[in-house]
Amino acid sequence: MSFRKILTALAVTLGLAFALPAPAIGSASAAAPVAVRTIYYDASQAQEFKAAVDEGAAAWNKAVPAIELKPATGAQATIKVYADNGWPRAIPQGFGRGTVYMGRQAVNDGFYPPRIAAHELAHTLGLPDNRNGRCDYLMSGHSSPTSCKTTTPHETEAAQVRRNAGGRVPATLAGQLQYADCFKF
Ligand SMILES: [Zn+2]
Repeated sequence: MSFRKILTALAVTLGLAFALPAPAIGSASAAAPVAVRTIYYDASQAQEFKAAVDEGAAAWNKAVPAIELKPATGAQATIKVYADNGWPRAIPQGFGRGTVYMGRQAVNDGFYPPRIAAHELAHTLGLPDNRNGRCDYLMSGHSSPTSCKTTTPHETEAAQVRRNAGGRVPATLAGQLQYADCFKF
């Protein structure tokens, strides 16, 4: 066997070794339907913020097709949204579960209600606060200026929620948590 033939044989062997698992993975993921996790939220007691909550939920649905936040009332709803005069806050109780308060204090400071809603809903989807000062991150909270009206999650935030929806329970959803300083200076 010539040196060239040995190289060719080696390349074919290596090529096969690397190529073989790929079609198996590809066909498996192509065959498996994407399971959408429907999460019901009750914003019927969110008073003047009901539309803002719907907008925040829609932003998440668009960014993460694996989840669908749907309005509902009663026991079906695993996320309850209220309005009060305090600071916006969230008490997550598992993926897609918890209580959200649309606090008027941040709205009075000038923060954009749909962005507040998208931020607080994100806590119930397993995202922690991330005060990096960037408007393109929902979780930057009060570290972004009040002029920031973005409701679209950053790709890294959407990716984290996608992973959380896939069943990995993040530390941000374990134990007794309360996010209360989201928009509080
Ligand atoms: Zn927060």
